[in-house]
Amino acid sequence: MHYLETDLEKRIHTLAQWMYGAPLESAEPNEGHRAIVELQEMGKLQFLISQNVDNLHLKSGIRKELLAELHGNIAKLRCKRCGMTVNRSAGRDVCRCGRALVRSVVDFGQSLPERDLALSFTHSRKSDLFVVAGSSLVVTPAANMPAEALRAGAKLVIINRGETPFDPHTHLRFHEKTGDVLPRAVKRLKRLMGLFE
Ligand SMILES: [Zn+2]
Repeated sequence: MHYLETDLEKRIHTLAQWMYGAPLESAEPNEGHRAIVELQEMGKLQFLISQNVDNLHLKSGIRKELLAELHGNIAKLRCKRCGMTVNRSAGRDVCRCGRALVRSVVDFGQSLPERDLALSFTHSRKSDLFVVAGSSLVVTPAANMPAEALRAGAKLVIINRGETPFDPHTHLRFHEKTGDVLPRAVKRLKRLMGLFE
């Protein structure tokens, strides 16, 4: 029974990918993703809160303990009872705790993963520099996190091409694309830290 359900799920996933036109899971991290990994390697990334579901942060090398995926991940299944996530490619459909694994991507109106949400708020409140990259900050609860950081005394930097509700509260604002800002900032940071390429 489980097998049949999973098989249908897999075929539906394939059909959706074909309708999309390109397999999402084969998408590659871009220079924005890579710049964030460099920050991690330099010890300059305390935590990363993502609203993306495309698995590219993990694929680019972000350590999973430094990442919250608020809206889930297309490459992962999640246990509804214990919250454990399992790679879809592992081919499992039942969690170690016995409950069925379901897709981890959060649909509109569904509640967000608890661990990811709690860590996001904790780290927002602990941050000294909160950098928003490529988010218009209109979807809560992610949109509430810069306010937590500001309240805690963090500097707020926003890199986003469109307007955001936090624009009047930023300490530094970039209207350019993330890929045009972060890699260059990281390059400069390396120079400041005495690291040469
Ligand atoms: Zn479980």
